[in-house]
Amino acid sequence: MKFTVTSIIGIALSLTSVASACGCGCKDHPKKDAAAEVKTEEAAEAEAAPAKEIVITGNDTMQFDQAALELTAGEATKITFKNVGNLPKAAMGHNFVILKPGSDILKFGMAAASAAATEYIPQDEAGTAMLEAHTKLLGPGEEDSIVVTLEAGEYPFLCSFPGHYAMMKGVITVK
Ligand code: ZN
Repeated sequence: MKFTVTSIIGIALSLTSVASACGCGCKDHPKKDAAAEVKTEEAAEAEAAPAKEIVITGNDTMQFDQAALELTAGEATKITFKNVGNLPKAAMGHNFVILKPGSDILKFGMAAASAAATEYIPQDEAGTAMLEAHTKLLGPGEEDSIVVTLEAGEYPFLCSFPGHYAMMKGVITVK
């Protein structure tokens, strides 16, 4: 009888160890953890990410690829501006500058022309009062993103590199 009991316990133990090798899901655990991690990252990104993203480009012929943009009031929007040209930054640099509603592109552009030290973003009171947001001044192949949350209105935009505002301009309509 004792031998038999021992044998049964022995069999039971080996079954248990077989069961834990096959059925405990050890091999699955890393997969489940990885999936959970990805979900967490996605959730965090969704929370931090702006609701909308707009991409606009500027080129060597002084043109934005869009002259009219539409945004939703109060909604965080990421604007990515790309300089898709090949000419050097000193000759054909571009930026994306958003002015407050009612601002005069001509006045801002003229003030910007004498602000080379600050990459054509005027620092005087008049210029600052008109400025809503801007990207960096970009050389060929460069890009920069800004996130803006605007109230309803019509916001003029331009490239403030000297002379470019005559052609590189448009309006962001926020409603
Ligand atoms: Zn430009």
